[in-house]
Amino acid sequence: MNRSREGSEDRPALLGGRPVRPEGPPVWPGANAAVEEALRRAAAAGLWGRYHSEQSEALSAELAEFFQVPHVLLCASGTLAVEAALRACGVGAGDEVLLAAYDYEGNFLSVHAVGAVPVLVDVTALSWQLDAELLAAAASPRVKAVICSHLHGGIVDMPAVLELARQRGWYVIEDAAQAIGGQLQGRRLGSWGDIGVVSFGGSKLVAAGRGGALLCHEARLAQRLRLWLRRGPQEWAALSELQAAVVRPQLEQLPARTAQRAARAARLQAALAPFPALRRLAPPETPQTQPAFYKLGWDYDAAAFGLSRAHFLAALQAEGIAIAPGFRALHLHRSPSRYRAASPLRHATDAHHRCVLLHHPVLLGSEEDVLQIAQAVAKIHRYRQELAALPLPAPALSAD
Ligand SMILES: *Cc1c(COP(=O)(O)O)cnc(C)c1O
Repeated sequence: MNRSREGSEDRPALLGGRPVRPEGPPVWPGANAAVEEALRRAAAAGLWGRYHSEQSEALSAELAEFFQVPHVLLCASGTLAVEAALRACGVGAGDEVLLAAYDYEGNFLSVHAVGAVPVLVDVTALSWQLDAELLAAAASPRVKAVICSHLHGGIVDMPAVLELARQRGWYVIEDAAQAIGGQLQGRRLGSWGDIGVVSFGGSKLVAAGRGGALLCHEARLAQRLRLWLRRGPQEWAALSELQAAVVRPQLEQLPARTAQRAARAARLQAALAPFPALRRLAPPETPQTQPAFYKLGWDYDAAAFGLSRAHFLAALQAEGIAIAPGFRALHLHRSPSRYRAASPLRHATDAHHRCVLLHHPVLLGSEEDVLQIAQAVAKIHRYRQELAALPLPAPALSAD
């Protein structure tokens, strides 16, 4: 074999070598025969101009069964659902809402949208999820609700959050936009809070291009959600019949897909064993607790790996892998007048600087697909010194 060619195949793509995935990351949601058929049938039924018809009603019932909750309201997006949940809980001007300082920025902005003040709580050291143990110290008479988001394959300690919230009279809003299909102690993520939120946004695990749903235990809260989402006779925030039609078959596929993603994530982690600088955020699965992977998140230790996060990510992206930094922590680059900090936000600051996220579609591929990621990491590690010398633009942070 030609030596120089062999050499070039072994080099990182960013240094002129051949990418491990020349075709780039898999597309999402991609072609899906069951979705095509559902869409064809919904279109043929001719009712797809309506707002609450056959498809939406069937989907609501299926979601109620899936999550084991009595009330389901479909709506136009996950972000809108969080705002609706805050309003249904009576959160308004002068109130406070607890949330993690490392969270989806839209949740912070939704708290502002209803006129309330976000109270930022640090995340746990090991998995960067809202730290339930810090909630009591963050309390004030103004706190009305807690937002808990399960992020990047991690799971918030919902029993601990609920126990404290019950004592204090706080509502719990559970954001399962990244965690649909996962479960904690045998109960679906999204069904633990007083109100749970899921998203059917285009990149999400169950995708309708846009859309969301609210999962609710109490009739009184469900009625308040309904009133706000319908605003009299107007359907300004509904999920469409065609969106509902494409969600239904994906909900059926979800348990098998969740299991496959978890198995691939575990295989990938095993293949990454030589690189302890990549520490997985998600807890290991047990029969009763199963994470869902909208993103597979790691704590990336740049010093231990020997390469900055920006260089590591740029090099992996050049290999054709959909990897990105995590969220911007909510307390950084923002005026302290926009929030109250409940405690030092040390781990949220770490998450801001160190988190790296693999986008989920590759986890539905073959075992070879995830092994390629480990090969790319190994290649980048071998060439870390050469890569570190490359000038790079600052990467965009993850928005969803
Ligand atoms: C995507 C996402 C949302 C918002 O969902 P949209 O339907 O895109 O508005 C909310 N929270 C988290 C954690 C998300 O990842």
